[in-house]
Amino acid sequence: MSTNAKRRKLRVLFASSEAVPFAKTGGLGDVAGSLPRALKHAGARAAVIMPKYASISQEYKDQMKHVADFYVPLSWRNEYCGIEKLTLQDLDFYFVDNEAYFKRDGLYGYFDDGERFAFFSKAICEAIARVPELECDVLHCNDWQTALCCVFLREFYQQIPQCASVKTVFTVHNVKFQGQYSDKMLEEVLGLAHIPAARDQLYCDRDSINFMKGALCYADVLTTVSPSYAYELQMPFYGEGLDDIFRRRQGVLHGILNGIDQTIWNPSTDPMIPVNYSAKELEKKAECKRALQEELGLRQDPERPLVVSIGRLTDQKGLGLVRYAMDHLMERGVQVAILGTGDKDHEDAFRYFDAKYGDMMCARIAFDNALSHRMYAGGDLLLMPSEFEPCGLSQMIAMRYGTLPVVRETGGLRDSVMPYNKYTGEGTGFSFANMNADEMADTLLGACEIFWTDHDAWHNLMLQAMDADFSWRRAANDYMDMYHDLHPEIIRYNKRR
Ligand code: ADP
Repeated sequence: MSTNAKRRKLRVLFASSEAVPFAKTGGLGDVAGSLPRALKHAGARAAVIMPKYASISQEYKDQMKHVADFYVPLSWRNEYCGIEKLTLQDLDFYFVDNEAYFKRDGLYGYFDDGERFAFFSKAICEAIARVPELECDVLHCNDWQTALCCVFLREFYQQIPQCASVKTVFTVHNVKFQGQYSDKMLEEVLGLAHIPAARDQLYCDRDSINFMKGALCYADVLTTVSPSYAYELQMPFYGEGLDDIFRRRQGVLHGILNGIDQTIWNPSTDPMIPVNYSAKELEKKAECKRALQEELGLRQDPERPLVVSIGRLTDQKGLGLVRYAMDHLMERGVQVAILGTGDKDHEDAFRYFDAKYGDMMCARIAFDNALSHRMYAGGDLLLMPSEFEPCGLSQMIAMRYGTLPVVRETGGLRDSVMPYNKYTGEGTGFSFANMNADEMADTLLGACEIFWTDHDAWHNLMLQAMDADFSWRRAANDYMDMYHDLHPEIIRYNKRR
């Protein structure tokens, strides 16, 4: 160990475009709201930095304190940046304030998203350089929205003492969204046109650049959100054109399975479900099912297996298989309830099934967090036949509520759901291998058969699912080991296992 070794808390700045409870469109929001807190428990000094969106509730905005303001150089111009701070349950959140970029109704989907998040990434680097309380040892970036931090930090900030020893970690939450824009941005926004190395790493074809590709080349360490997805990313089928870079950098690519916030997702205390229950009083879950059937206009029948599905209605989630199998499932007397928003084609298809099958099928085309809690609690099975699934939180949440997942064996679904073994009784759900609607329906109906005929096996499966450990503690320890490998001069402050 070097003579400069110091025992102190490692400082991690977690950069994310969304974080619960301020803004969320998917799993990244959940991760950014919970992992940094778990890192604190594991001995880090962690904070989160995210944009100050208009959609953040006024109650939170009123509590934010102004910390600093400065101008961020974006090629030939300078853009205003305010840094505001709010401490929530002992975790510091910093907000990048620029009304032109972030005072909009939604988070993403604007013509200038590339510029908005290039600004956000540059503002983070600038904040590390200028705001003492944001100095860090590790800048942990997530997905394309903060990918450019890894490039900017190396190309523009390396000479600044506050930035010189910052190591970058880049986590891929979903390789499908890479941030691809016209190469005109290199000159007009990023100011990287004159740096050959950066240009080469960012180019993805003749006239476009790819933010995520930049981070994959520049970050000190790459991670993704499950071991299986780390492996899959290296294959052309899953790698979305970046598989060669994942293969090249496999030596620094780690797959760490996400956790879930077990205080929010806890059936014994959840204030959003009609009746609280635990593994010891599982019979109370039946009341949640009854209430859900009533709320969704489904036939009030405890003997019908109620299959729920909660998530974005996009091709990724394997909804083509669900649509194909729907008539068959209905014939067999299975109830299906879907909550989600997404592609219009899928939304319309599920509206159609809702109209066609009356009290056996319900589609709620909405983003409704409270209803999602009631569905996790009230369902018997959760269907998640994803084409690819980096980690997936829904299946873990479902298990916590004793709702057994039926999943395709891919990515985090494969790493978190232990398929039922009828010989030993082991398992926490059901799984199938291929993107095939008949295979999915057979697996789902096989699960229903157990629901109908073998109450003991079903009960045990529910107990095993509820007992699985999806806490953030395990993941946080793995991240801490990785951060410390990047900073051998900092002796770990608190090694809790
Ligand atoms: P992804 O990140 O691919 O969207 P995950 O399964 O990792 O999928 O995370 C999705 C999260 O968003 C879960 O917490 C899920 O409950 C929630 N969610 C998704 N769609 C909805 C919706 N329509 N209403 C409420 N919650 C939703």
